[in-house]
Amino acid sequence: MSDLDKQKQMARERREDQDKPNFIPAIYRYQPFTNLDDRMTTTSLNRVIMVGIGAALALDVFKPVWNGFYEAAYCYECRACYATQEKCPASITYQAELVIACRTLDYRRFIDNKGLLCFRCGNCNGVCVQHLDLAYMFGKMGIKVVEEMKKGKIPFSIVEAALHNGRIGRPYIDDIYEWYRSKGGKRLDAKTA
Ligand code: SF4
Ligand code: SF4
Repeated sequence: MSDLDKQKQMARERREDQDKPNFIPAIYRYQPFTNLDDRMTTTSLNRVIMVGIGAALALDVFKPVWNGFYEAAYCYECRACYATQEKCPASITYQAELVIACRTLDYRRFIDNKGLLCFRCGNCNGVCVQHLDLAYMFGKMGIKVVEEMKKGKIPFSIVEAALHNGRIGRPYIDDIYEWYRSKGGKRLDAKTA
């Protein structure tokens, strides 16, 4: 059989393979994720990759649950909460970034996106398509940030930058400033003193 005949036979077999999902009548779709034969790498390597993807997804769910931020696992990352806009009294523009920071325990991301300025007013709760209690989540993360800072798990430079950029709100400022000064931080009004 010539190469051309082999190709035609293969195409015919694929067209008539009834094990595959029906795409349009008489045409069966070959999905790269479901058909090991269609993948570029070897079957074993593909299985390893699929296990890796599965493990990453599982970690994405279990990590926030483990850290006490299970609500964050429900976030779609749709960014609908950005519609809060001027209804946020703390002028926080990227609430979804705070949710992701909670999910991944990314303290820098939380601080940089003004999470420590959150008043917990709850105005953004009503905008979330998943009806997540964002105010409660951000408050819980704020307390966690202060705890981890005292344990030395947040770099001094991040805390210092947050103080100088006015990114620490009233509920946290006393604790954080006390810690900052105890670690040798300069007085905030040092330039004018
Ligand atoms: S709960 Fe926090 S982030 Fe949400 S609107 Fe109020 S101050 Fe802004
Ligand atoms: S609207 Fe809700 S689900 Fe969507 S990104 Fe914001 S927090 Fe996540």
